[in-house]
Amino acid sequence: MSDKEKILSIVVPCYNEEAVLPAFYDEICRTADELKDRVDCEFLFIDDGSADATLSILKGYAGSDERVHYISFSRNFGKEAAIYAGLQNASGDYVVVMDADLQHPPAFLSQMLDNIRSGEYDSVAMRRLDRKGEKKIRAWFSAQFYKLNQKISGVDIPEGATDFRMMTRQMVDAVLSMPEVNRFTKGIFTWVGFRTLWLPYHNVERPAGTSKWSFWSLVKYSFNGILAFSTVPLAIASVLGAIICLGAFLMMIWVVFKTLVWGDAVGGYPTLITVILFLGGIQLLMIGILSQYFSKTYMETKHRPVYIAREKKLGRPRRKKDSV
Ligand code: UDP
Ligand code: MG
Repeated sequence: MSDKEKILSIVVPCYNEEAVLPAFYDEICRTADELKDRVDCEFLFIDDGSADATLSILKGYAGSDERVHYISFSRNFGKEAAIYAGLQNASGDYVVVMDADLQHPPAFLSQMLDNIRSGEYDSVAMRRLDRKGEKKIRAWFSAQFYKLNQKISGVDIPEGATDFRMMTRQMVDAVLSMPEVNRFTKGIFTWVGFRTLWLPYHNVERPAGTSKWSFWSLVKYSFNGILAFSTVPLAIASVLGAIICLGAFLMMIWVVFKTLVWGDAVGGYPTLITVILFLGGIQLLMIGILSQYFSKTYMETKHRPVYIAREKKLGRPRRKKDSV
């Protein structure tokens, strides 16, 4: 197949993006035009249960532009689910995932595509160099998360990694072969391996609309990421248990020694209560960590679908999907 016949699927999760969608569509059409000598583009918008006019805007585009496809969810399932639905239904030889808010500038697609077409890379991903326009505290927590994640889980996600990523069909199929319902996409992209080129860029502020992430949803996302890819927190219980046992043993020797040498007046109430409270706290903490893993396992065993589509318009599959 000559490269001209290859298709680039552009997957765009959208949640209440009526304010910015028209600007995004204009720009992505311009970019597709620039790329037309290299690839044909298809657009796959995922309406993640928007409550605004997002779906009707998408339907309008789909009516007049045959490159536009969409899937509309029955409710808000989250960006991870939207990315999964996009990858699952994209028919392209290359697939790129990008935000609808122009914070992932379409202008980079050309450079990403050239690097992938060179055959040297299976994936080209964008990494933010700064967090201009973001609250300082949010940026700080985010940096700490990447550091912690790097330390305790096997997957090495560079700081500032975004979901803005172009992949070959082979890598997309590998990502889809991971069946978990609780999907931490950044970790999955890294876990499947392949050769990835990281391109740095400066953060772009949203031209319209607002971020869908609250501070707490980001904290939850970070914990999910660690739980999804690491069992190190579970090992903390064993390590702490061993240390405390050793401490208790040494203390026991000290108490016996003290009693034999000096005799003992019944005392030590403060020591006793401190030790009891300390041990109680540690035990609860460990049960808490255990429960986090247990609850994730419980949810996975239900085998619920990652998303439910209410309506969709998809093109005819242009190619048979290979399995990995
Ligand atoms: N998004 C989504 N479902 C959600 C939240 C967000 O599909 O539940 C989409 C959103 O429409 C946007 C992208 O994910 O295209 C990134 O969201 P946002 O800009 O709010 O995140 P931020 O850039 O602040 O991290
Ligand atoms: Mg954004």
